[in-house]
Amino acid sequence: MNKKLYVISGSSGVGKGTVIKGFLEKNPHFTLSISCTTRTPRPGEANGVNYFFLTKKEFQECIEQDKFLEWAEFAGNFYGTKQKYIHQCLEEGKNLILEIDTQGALQVKKRWPEAVLIFICPPSFEDLEKRLRGRHTEDESTIQKRLNEAKVELERAESFDYKIVNDDLEKAIKTLEDVINKEMADA
Ligand code: 5GP
Repeated sequence: MNKKLYVISGSSGVGKGTVIKGFLEKNPHFTLSISCTTRTPRPGEANGVNYFFLTKKEFQECIEQDKFLEWAEFAGNFYGTKQKYIHQCLEEGKNLILEIDTQGALQVKKRWPEAVLIFICPPSFEDLEKRLRGRHTEDESTIQKRLNEAKVELERAESFDYKIVNDDLEKAIKTLEDVINKEMADA
């Protein structure tokens, strides 16, 4: 069983979702892991597709029963990856990408040393703020929370295996492909 997990983090609004989407379109033999969260679904999001949406009580029970490979509180909500889900996907032969925050990524690395940690950075902090506001999906207090988180995440990224600057989408996707191909070849 291939045990390599590709864990991708990046500041909120950095465009990591778009980079990952571009990567997955070109590399259909990769699957995006589905996380659990207590946050409210955004328009167009569906349970079991974008996330498994849990109540805080359900999430708490999973923590108590040690069901998560990793979990974190991010901007007032809980997010986590179920161990059983990851094992099942790997047993099915899937190559998995985890799109999770930096706290979770560092927990994965501790429990799962074969994990490869990749951080997607903005060209600058100012650029990140502009992108985050441009989405128009969050209110001001949420934006402030996410900007504060972004600062902390940039610091945590220092212990990641790779950093990819997203100043040009195609270039970032290509760099991600190069990193993953190299790691697959080394496996
Ligand atoms: P969003 O609410 O924008 O979907 O996600 C907010 C943050 O939570 C993002 O940085 C995303 O990568 C992170 N996230 C999503 N799923 C997980 C997870 O399972 N675990 C952790 N630790 N973070 C997650």
